[in-house]
Amino acid sequence: MLLTGFTKEIFRSKCMPHAQSLHCYAHLNEDIGKVIPYLNSSLGGSSFSMDPPSVTFKIQGKLISVHANKIAINALRNEEETDKILNWLKNEINTAWQNRENIEPMFKSAPQPTLIEILKLLPKTNCKACHEPTCMVFATKVMEGLKDGDDCPDIDPENKTKLSKYLSCFHFEI
Ligand code: SF4
Repeated sequence: MLLTGFTKEIFRSKCMPHAQSLHCYAHLNEDIGKVIPYLNSSLGGSSFSMDPPSVTFKIQGKLISVHANKIAINALRNEEETDKILNWLKNEINTAWQNRENIEPMFKSAPQPTLIEILKLLPKTNCKACHEPTCMVFATKVMEGLKDGDDCPDIDPENKTKLSKYLSCFHFEI
């Protein structure tokens, strides 16, 4: 096992002390720099750096940055969600390390879903039934993993299936 554990530090943003969302640093027990290219390959990071090693994922509207000695996560709802994400990540890190001989390490950012491809599959009527002001705003939220085809009541069923298939190449469940 590469990563045995971490110490959690949960705080509110200093710039926005009244904001409801939490931020978290997990200070890691071990240096995990060497697994980062393998983790990037298995999960598809939206940005990657080799020196110093770090990878960032955009998941369900959160930015999760994994560094050699620290994990940083923003926009957390509560401590329960923090624990769920950290435990999931610990498992992903250890699995990627254990399977590294079968994983091609990736040293660049992975492709991300594009606004245009998502927008193409939406009705583009700006009807607001999804509680967003326009289909464009909705598409942005889909891109960030905050919404999906189920949230647009007017989407054509065939396009909903296509959207779900398209997003499955980028997003994953925690
Ligand atoms: S419900 Fe669908 S069609 Fe209506 S604004 Fe939202 S995304 Fe566009």
